[in-house]
Amino acid sequence: MNTSQQQIDFDKLKADISLWAKELGFSQVGVSDIDLSEAGDYLNQWLQKNFNADMDYMHKHGEKRYHPDQLVPGTLSIISARLNYMDTDVKPYQKALQETQKAAVSRYALGRDYHKLMRNKLKKLAQRIEHTVGELGYRVFSDSAPVMEKAIAEKAGLGWIGKHSNVINPKAGSYFFLGEIYTDLPLPADAPQSFHCGSCTACIPACPTGAIVAPFQVDARRCISYLTIENHGAIPEPLRKPIGNRIYGCDDCQMVCPWNKFTEKSKEPDFSPRQNLDDIELLELFNWSEEEFLAKTEGSPIRRIGYQSWQRNLAVALGNAKTEPAIVEALTNKLDGVSDMVKEHIEWALQQHNEKQ
Ligand code: SF4
Repeated sequence: MNTSQQQIDFDKLKADISLWAKELGFSQVGVSDIDLSEAGDYLNQWLQKNFNADMDYMHKHGEKRYHPDQLVPGTLSIISARLNYMDTDVKPYQKALQETQKAAVSRYALGRDYHKLMRNKLKKLAQRIEHTVGELGYRVFSDSAPVMEKAIAEKAGLGWIGKHSNVINPKAGSYFFLGEIYTDLPLPADAPQSFHCGSCTACIPACPTGAIVAPFQVDARRCISYLTIENHGAIPEPLRKPIGNRIYGCDDCQMVCPWNKFTEKSKEPDFSPRQNLDDIELLELFNWSEEEFLAKTEGSPIRRIGYQSWQRNLAVALGNAKTEPAIVEALTNKLDGVSDMVKEHIEWALQQHNEKQ
């Protein structure tokens, strides 16, 4: 602690940080200490089972992931922030899954990409703190570095990690983004949120591909979010049918979670759906050229998967749709001029329609 920090009333400062965070639009903030050893043990067990699929970056940075002061030297505490993203006025996800000619997009990806928005808000919060306490050592993150966001949020009292591995807040459910400020201020830590899944196991059988292999154990190799977003290669054939019309991510485990009856509407207009992504035909999306894809997904998280994965995901969803001449025609017309990987998925889709006839 430097000389100027010795004058600070940290309890008051923490209360002020909470108020400033609310003014900036955050749903809630909390403070965690930097002992993430338990989360580190869990991560290493998960990695040993190869549940990270080909996300090799999970191995990188070694212990920095669970030693915050190795990632940012001097870190003494972490401010964890959450921001509700659900636009509760859009067509419910359950309904999107039933309309098989239309796309089902994970709710977090309907609107603007959250990464920059979260980091900008976190930076403003850090600057507000700096304005009060003087020079501050800090770094902000939102899904942008080897940071154990969920474990930190749990320690900071924002929610508990549910059996589906998402953080659940008892008053707001699980539809929120997380971000962190690593700081050299010795802020008093909050009490961790206690566990309230109880005997419920609803999310485990709800996973369409059986990716929740045991409570708190998600095998990314089977997870639709991984398969349609992080994965740039082929989708394993046995998992294509269960993917249904989910073209970007999957919310099924959250959809069935009883705590999401407490979902709060997001106050952030930027998270409202763009391009009618909550109610749009698969065929219309499949017919986007690469230029259209890039233009229409500008500022959206969807853009980062790239056009090939986009076409791959849509080919799978169209293979699972009800057979219509227009679908068969669009798939056939795309066979030329696509990569071998995409072509193989289109051929699979056409085969599904042949088998139905
Ligand atoms: S569905 Fe049940 S078991 Fe799964 S995270 Fe929610 S409360 Fe926990």
